[in-house]
Amino acid sequence: LESARGEENEIIFKSPLPKEELPNVSLADYMFSRFDRFGDKVALVDDDAGTTYRYSELEDKVRKIGSFLYRNGFRKNDVLCYFGTNNPEFSLLLLGCASVGVILTTANPAYTTGELQRHIEHSGASVLVTVIPLIPKIQDLAIKTVIVLGEADGYQPFSNMLVDDGTCFPTDVSIDPKLDVCIMPYSSGTTGLPKGVMLTHSNVVGNLRQFKRATITTQEDTNFAVLPFYHIYGMAPIMLGSLQDGAKLVTTPGFDPEGFLKAIIKHNVSQLHLVPPIILFLARHPVVDKFDLSKLRTIISAAAPLGEALSNEFNEKRKQSILQGYGLTETSPVVTIDQHPSTIGSIGPLIPNTEAKFLNPDTGKSVGRNEVGELCVRGPQNMKGYHNNEKATKDMIDDDGWLHTGDIGYMRDDDRIVISDRLKELIKYKGLQVAPAELEDIIHNHPSVQDVAVIGVPDDRAGEIPRAYVVLKPNTDVKPYDIISYVDGKVSDYKKLRGGVEFLTEIPKSPSGKILRRFLKGQS
Ligand code: AMP
Repeated sequence: LESARGEENEIIFKSPLPKEELPNVSLADYMFSRFDRFGDKVALVDDDAGTTYRYSELEDKVRKIGSFLYRNGFRKNDVLCYFGTNNPEFSLLLLGCASVGVILTTANPAYTTGELQRHIEHSGASVLVTVIPLIPKIQDLAIKTVIVLGEADGYQPFSNMLVDDGTCFPTDVSIDPKLDVCIMPYSSGTTGLPKGVMLTHSNVVGNLRQFKRATITTQEDTNFAVLPFYHIYGMAPIMLGSLQDGAKLVTTPGFDPEGFLKAIIKHNVSQLHLVPPIILFLARHPVVDKFDLSKLRTIISAAAPLGEALSNEFNEKRKQSILQGYGLTETSPVVTIDQHPSTIGSIGPLIPNTEAKFLNPDTGKSVGRNEVGELCVRGPQNMKGYHNNEKATKDMIDDDGWLHTGDIGYMRDDDRIVISDRLKELIKYKGLQVAPAELEDIIHNHPSVQDVAVIGVPDDRAGEIPRAYVVLKPNTDVKPYDIISYVDGKVSDYKKLRGGVEFLTEIPKSPSGKILRRFLKGQS
């Protein structure tokens, strides 16, 4: 690893892995070139419905979806929103969109109708694809076209997208991989409300190549996609990552503990990408003892901090080790991944073509090994920017191309990074993003509330849970429960105020009016 004093005496760390040549192609073309190698092997299986797709049929199906979109008037940069659970068809849809330059944005299937409406308006989506169980949530939605996976009265079925009507795949679509946006998942980033993260074809393809070198998926592997595809972790490393390496990917609509364990056995699952709460379940729950998990070759944990104690507990109990990965939606998402189970406590080394520096939060200066600072990363995986939000983009990526992650950590002597804290306001409930600004907006609208600040408080099972500190208007008689139930009625389950509500006489703020969350965290 090089630790050079480069740009104006900055201390920059480079990936210890060899540089990777990155192809300048669209995501669909890249994936087609991979599928060609795997012939009739099974690519995707739905654990529930049993639907199976082979590598040899993927390109044809993807092109049919692209043709369908094109002949229905959708063009490059139009936005399609997927609001649904995991299934093999999502992979076809994503690549079908990418094949004609339609941008795919994804909404959490746990969203309320109000949350989904905001997502649709904000992303500018003109077509929604959903699944039957979610129809009740979309009935009153203001959107032109709705397509449903399965048959439902009054809705166009997804199977229409796979019909061959004799028209050819459009020849006049030209995609510039470096400029054109491919997918647009949502993230609140360092501050504020969720924003559309514009990831170009090059971002996605580049990251697939970068982490391919750092991981060990083979055609022999079977992955089980228990994490949601709407999040970049499920969409890219898990789904596209499995497909680029010719592995088999088993999908399931949701996490049910016993079903999860049964599926691991039934499908001979060899690789699992998880989040710390599921690691905790696997380490502690007695039901796990009834299952032989010895076929599992690789277990990866990412999306939230994995404590050393839990990692050790898991190793001892299950005689298996966990590799940690780290990333952000804004970095397509992979930044680091560990290849050696022996490095407990770290998130691993930088993947190829990735640089890092750590900025001392007080001085803003980059610091050396073993010194703590805000992790900044630079590489081909850094997003193009936030949709329609130049200011937030500039706050996140500086003029030299460094993306400021809002995470605190340091570079160890063994070239592996440790994340020790989070500077940004983001709350991670079971690996899912909860934006304090979103909850604060809602609570501000309560007639008795004068001021509010929301922070995450540590929780053994979920990692963090949201707690609100509230200043009431004078002469109001409101109990914490009233605020909790007010919020409950307006947000998805994972955003609920599980950390409770506490009343204060004043919210601590900086002279510029910024909430001093650190101060509140110190109190919790
Ligand atoms: P998201 O965009 O939802 O993937 O959230 C990105 C954030 O999740 C990062 O900035 C970190 O705060 C957190 N995160 C992801 N992976 C890890 C990890 N392995 N350890 C600690 N925090 C993580």
